[in-house]
Amino acid sequence: MNSTNKMSLTHRILISMVAGIAMGVLLQTFAADSQFVQDYIINGLFNIVGTVFVSSLRMLVVPLVFVSLVCGVASMQDTARLGRLGGKTVALYLATTAIAISIAMAVALLIKPGAGMELVSDAEFVANEAPSLAQVIIDMFPTNPIASMASGNMLQIIVFALLFGLSIAIAGEPGQRIASMFEDFNVVIMKLVTLLMNIAPYGVFALLSKLFYEIGFDAIYSLFGYFMVVLAVLIIQAAVVYPVLLKLLSGLNPLIFVKKMREAFVFAFSTASSNATIPVTLETATHKLGVRNSTASFTVPLGATINMDGTSIMQGVATIFIATVYGFDLSAGQLLTVILTATLASVGTAGVPGVGLITLAMVLTQVGLPVEGIALIIGVDRLLDMVRTAVNITGDSMVTVAVAKSEGDLNIATYNDPEAGLKDEEVHLPHGESTKARVGGSQLA
Ligand code: ASP
Repeated sequence: MNSTNKMSLTHRILISMVAGIAMGVLLQTFAADSQFVQDYIINGLFNIVGTVFVSSLRMLVVPLVFVSLVCGVASMQDTARLGRLGGKTVALYLATTAIAISIAMAVALLIKPGAGMELVSDAEFVANEAPSLAQVIIDMFPTNPIASMASGNMLQIIVFALLFGLSIAIAGEPGQRIASMFEDFNVVIMKLVTLLMNIAPYGVFALLSKLFYEIGFDAIYSLFGYFMVVLAVLIIQAAVVYPVLLKLLSGLNPLIFVKKMREAFVFAFSTASSNATIPVTLETATHKLGVRNSTASFTVPLGATINMDGTSIMQGVATIFIATVYGFDLSAGQLLTVILTATLASVGTAGVPGVGLITLAMVLTQVGLPVEGIALIIGVDRLLDMVRTAVNITGDSMVTVAVAKSEGDLNIATYNDPEAGLKDEEVHLPHGESTKARVGGSQLA
C-alpha cells in the first residue's frame, strides 16, 4: 500500500461521516414509520456495527494509556521535567477552559438566547450530588490500581502509571528490562490502534446514521437560539481561538494543525466521548503532529479527563439561557462564579457522552439557578455533545503541541510534513523496517 491509499483512509472516514449523517436524516424523513428499518437497520445492523466500533475503541483506552505513559515516563532522562510538564499542561488546560467559557458567556449575554421564551417544559431533571474539590483530589490516588483499571478511572490510572514509570526509570538494570518489555507492548498496542482505524469508516457511518435517525430535530427548532449560540461559540473556539493560541504559544502554522486534526475530530464527533477517542488523539499527536510519545502519552489522556473546553462553552451558554428563561439577573460576581465553577466542573467531567449536562447542575447550584432548567436543553444536547467533544479533544491536542514545542519535544519536520503519520494507518507494516521507531511517534531520539 502506498501513501495515496492512506490518504484515502482519511478521506473515507470523512466521506462516511457525511454519508452517515445523510443516511440518518433520509431514513428519519422517509422511513420513520417503517418497523423494518427500525428493527433491522437502526437497532439491528447500525446498532451492532456502531456499538462494536465504540467498544473496540474503548477496549484500547486503558491498556494504551497505561503502557504508553509508563513508556513515556520511564524513558525520561530528566525526571524533574515531569513536574514542569505537568505544571505547564494543567495551567494551559485551565486557561483554555476559562477563555472558552468567558467567550461563551459574553456571546450569550449579548444575544440572550431564551429571551421571551415561555416556560413550557414538563420534563424533569434530578441532579446528582457533585463531589467536593477535596474529594476529587483524594479520588485521584488509587488504593487498588487493578480496580482503577477495571473501572477505567483515568486519573487514577495516570497517577499509577506515572509512579510506576518513575520507578522503572530509577530502578537500574531491572528497570531497563521492564522498560524494554513495555516498549514492545507499546508497539503491539499501537498496531491494534492501526487495525482499528481501518474499520473506522464503517463504524463512523453506522454510528452517525443511527444518531441522526434518532435525533429530534423538532427540539432544535424550539431551542434554535440556544442551539445556534452554543454551536457558534464552539466553532469560534475551534477555528479561531485554538489557531491563534497555537500561533502565539508556539509560532507554528495553525492551518497544518487544523488539517491534521480532521480524523480525530470525526472520531470524537461520532462517539461523543473524549475517552474513547484517546487512541486516535494520541496517534494524531505523535505520528501526525510529531509530539514525542513521552509528552503526548501524558498530556492527551490527562486532557481527555480534565480539559473540556467545549463542555464549558455549553455550560456557559446554558447558564445564561436558563437564567434568562427563569427571569434571573446574574450579577458580575455571579458571572465570575460561573467561570470558576465551570472551569472546575470541566476537571470533574468524565470524557464520556452526556456528562457535561450532569456537571452543569454543579454550576447552576453555585449561583442559585434552578437545576430543573437542565430539562429545557436536554432535547438538543446529544448533537451539541458531539460537537463539543470534538472541540474538547482539539483543545487537548493544541495544548499538547504547544507544551511539546516549549519543551523541545516536537519534531517540527513531522509537524510540517503533510504525509506524516499516513504510513502508520497501513494494516500491513512493511517487513524489515523498525516499527518501534515509528510507533514511538516522534522521530525525536
Ligand atoms: N462528551 C464530552 C466528552 O467526552 C463530555 C460532555 O461534555 O458531556 O468530552
